[in-house]
Amino acid sequence: MTFTYDAEKNFLDNKTILITGASDGIGKACAKAYAAYGATVVLLGRNQQKLETVFDEIDGLHPGKVVIHPLDFKTASMADFKILAESLNEQFECLDGLIHNAALLGARTPIEFYPEQDWADLMQVNVNAVFQLTQSLIPALNRSESAQILFISSSVGRVGRAFWGAYAVSKFALEGLMQTLAEELENTTSIRVNSLNPGGTRTNMRRDAYPAENPETQPTAESLMPVYLYLMSSDAQGIHGQALNVRDFEAV
Ligand code: NAP
Repeated sequence: MTFTYDAEKNFLDNKTILITGASDGIGKACAKAYAAYGATVVLLGRNQQKLETVFDEIDGLHPGKVVIHPLDFKTASMADFKILAESLNEQFECLDGLIHNAALLGARTPIEFYPEQDWADLMQVNVNAVFQLTQSLIPALNRSESAQILFISSSVGRVGRAFWGAYAVSKFALEGLMQTLAEELENTTSIRVNSLNPGGTRTNMRRDAYPAENPETQPTAESLMPVYLYLMSSDAQGIHGQALNVRDFEAV
C-alpha cells in the first residue's frame, strides 16, 4: 500500500532545510518536495553544474527559495564545513532540517580484496563528512524551535550483507552516530534525530548496484516523498532516535 501524507499547503514556510547530495536521485526529489511545501532549501553536492540545474528547476517554481553550496565531501575539510556554517548563519536565523543523503556506493568486493584507498574515500564521504557537517551545524539546528536531523541509511546498514563492503559498514556507522547523537540531544535540545532507509529506489546508485535489474521494477524517488515530508512535519514530533524504513510506512 502506498503511504500518503496530506501535508498542509506551505507547512514548511519559514523553514530552512539543508539536503546533501541534492544534485540527483533521492536528494534532488527531496529538495523539490520540501521547496514545493514552502521550505527554503540549501542544496549541497559535488557537481556545481548539476546543482545549478536543480537550482534553476526549483527557483523557476519557487523564486528565492533555493541556495546552492558546492562541496566535494571527498576532499572537504573541517574548515570548509565551518565556512558553510558561517555562510548559513549570515543568511538564515536557524536551520530546521538536515538531511544527510549524499553517499558513495563504492566497490562491491569481498572485504579480503577491498581496495584500501576506496575504503578510505568512502568512509570520508559517507561517515567523516557527515560527522563534520553535523558538528558544524548543531548550533544552527539548536536555534530552531523544532529541528530534525535525518541520516539516510540502508538495509545493509542494519544487517550486514556479503560484498557490500565499505558502503554497508559506513551505513552501520551512521546508525551508531544517529543513536549516540539522539541520546545526547534528547534532554537538552528539541532536535529530533532519526535514520531512514529509503529501500530500493530507481536512481543511479541502484542502477550501479544492480546493473542487470529492470529499473522500472523500483519505485521512483518522487514516490517516497510523502514519508520524507511527514518526517519534517509536526505530526512526526514524537519520532526520535529511531531507525525507520520507508517501506514500513507503506505497509501500514
Ligand atoms: P545517487 O542518485 O547516486 O545520488 C547520490 C547523491 O550524493 C548525488 O547527489 C551525488 O552527487 C552525491 N554525492 C556523491 N558523492 C559525493 C561527494 N563526494 N560529495 C558530495 N556529494 C556527493 O543515490 P541515491 O540512490 O539517490 O541515494 C541517496 C541516499 O539513499 C544515499 O544515502 C543512499 O545510500 C541511500 N539509499 C539508496 C537506495 C537506492 O536504492 N537508491 C537504497 C538504500 C539507500 P552527483 O550527482 O555528483 O553524483
